[in-house]
Amino acid sequence: MATLQSFTDWIADYAGVVRDQADYLTDLDRAIGDADHGANMARGMGKVALLTEQEEFTAIDAYLKKVGMSLVSNVGGASGPLYGTFFLRMAGAFTGVEEAGVTEVAAGLRAGVEGILARGKAEVGDKTMYDAWAPALEAFDSAVGSGSDLAAALAAAAEAAAKGRDETEGLVARKGRASYLGERSRGHIDPGATSSTMLLESAARTLA
Ligand code: ADP
Ligand code: MG
Repeated sequence: MATLQSFTDWIADYAGVVRDQADYLTDLDRAIGDADHGANMARGMGKVALLTEQEEFTAIDAYLKKVGMSLVSNVGGASGPLYGTFFLRMAGAFTGVEEAGVTEVAAGLRAGVEGILARGKAEVGDKTMYDAWAPALEAFDSAVGSGSDLAAALAAAAEAAAKGRDETEGLVARKGRASYLGERSRGHIDPGATSSTMLLESAARTLA
């Protein structure tokens, strides 16, 4: 079961990952964007990781809500509002939940991804972070359907996200800054799909 502690561990883990991988994420964004994705994520998650030092949280939903609000206000560009909305919507799925099992986490991920969709209006194949999230959700739900526990379902979701991320390389961007490049966006992995996969890999390490 995932407790509030699991969620704060998740955020702390992910903040460390994007700090360590900031140069890599920025390099990906240099190829098809404006070379700020790593810096955006490292700065935003760095602030988010400090939330637990500034305030004592007692509920998963209140914590995730603060995470989302912090990302919306501290991360510029497309990714701040998208990740911010993800956590804000996810928070809404945990109202009254003290310990989250597969069912609750499934609902949380789905709500979060619906937020990304509402905000960014991307479709599968547009070469965005949604190309990691869509297969991840599907894999999570199908793992749950075949009786997997939370750890196994998160591992399956992270693996599917990684595959979706890799497949963005062959796509032409139809949303976001990379879409300005048209055909020249092909041949590069999408930065947001990469950071989203890292978020799920981090969840697989910490949430279950
Ligand atoms: P910006 O493009 O404003 O510089 P970032 O570099 O931080 O912002 O983030 C870029 C990432 O945001 C892209 O790699 C892509 O995954 C994601 N993105 C951009 N637009 C959209 C959208 N409409 N829907 C989903 N994801 C998007
Ligand atoms: Mg950018």
